[in-house]
Amino acid sequence: MTDNVNNKQEILEKYREAGKILKVVRDEAVEMVRVGNSLLKVAEFVENRTTELGGGPAFPCNISRNEEAAHATPTAGDTDIFGKDMVKLDLGVHIDGYIADSAVTVDLSRNSDILKAAEEALSAAINLARPGITTGKIGAAIDDSIRSYGLSPIINLTGHGLSQYEAHDEPSVPNKRVDGGVILREGDVFAIEPFATDGAGVIHDGSWAEIYSLIRKKPVRMPAVRNILKQVEEYRGLPFAKRWLESDKLEFSLIQLAKAGILQSYPVLLEIEGGLVAQAEHTIVITQNGCEIITK
Ligand code: MN
Ligand code: MN
Repeated sequence: MTDNVNNKQEILEKYREAGKILKVVRDEAVEMVRVGNSLLKVAEFVENRTTELGGGPAFPCNISRNEEAAHATPTAGDTDIFGKDMVKLDLGVHIDGYIADSAVTVDLSRNSDILKAAEEALSAAINLARPGITTGKIGAAIDDSIRSYGLSPIINLTGHGLSQYEAHDEPSVPNKRVDGGVILREGDVFAIEPFATDGAGVIHDGSWAEIYSLIRKKPVRMPAVRNILKQVEEYRGLPFAKRWLESDKLEFSLIQLAKAGILQSYPVLLEIEGGLVAQAEHTIVITQNGCEIITK
């Protein structure tokens, strides 16, 4: 084998290892999503267990409920507990920056159709994934599956490519019917993530954010701000949670860093009609004849 082939094989093994850890953590975390349990405990469990098993959290454990589609994560000292919610757990694990990304919906709200629609759409998409197929065809399969339930896909959220230390790389994988798109090739790594809702199928940014990432390093003068920048550099551009940082001027420092274009914030994403949202997500690698699901 050439070095190039060896290297590809090594990278694939890292994706697989990340996926293996994610599965264990995800399945254990699902058991903790029960009415009355603490959200913060689940998030901390996910992140600590990931590390314990030899991975790194690729982003904070997202716990989004009901009309929250994504990007919700507990605050430090959060006292929120689960009610009869539609709960999305979205987990990321990386090995040397190679990321496995997967989400499940735990339905405590008794709206199992929405959950089934998202899961079925994911299966339909995965069944199509092979070299030569376009992301447009995958989007159409997702669209059709969800609409067959009389529900809507969330059209302004997409799946995405994954690459080293890049949780949201090109190309995007639409959750709706589009013309054309990108042709999949052997070796591509993707997260496919349909969202189904009984709302309009559109999300907008909420007014709060608990997740940030470093987008551009620039010198900063104020010691408190510099201290936070030093802490966030550790994550190498991967998203992190506010609650992972320590500072008595945290809020102030984050605002300064975002203003300076150094940090990006990820506001919680809300369905515009307040519809219930379910999500299903796996990370796949395109193989010669189909794909390998590394998070299953
Ligand atoms: Mn995800
Ligand atoms: Mn994703």
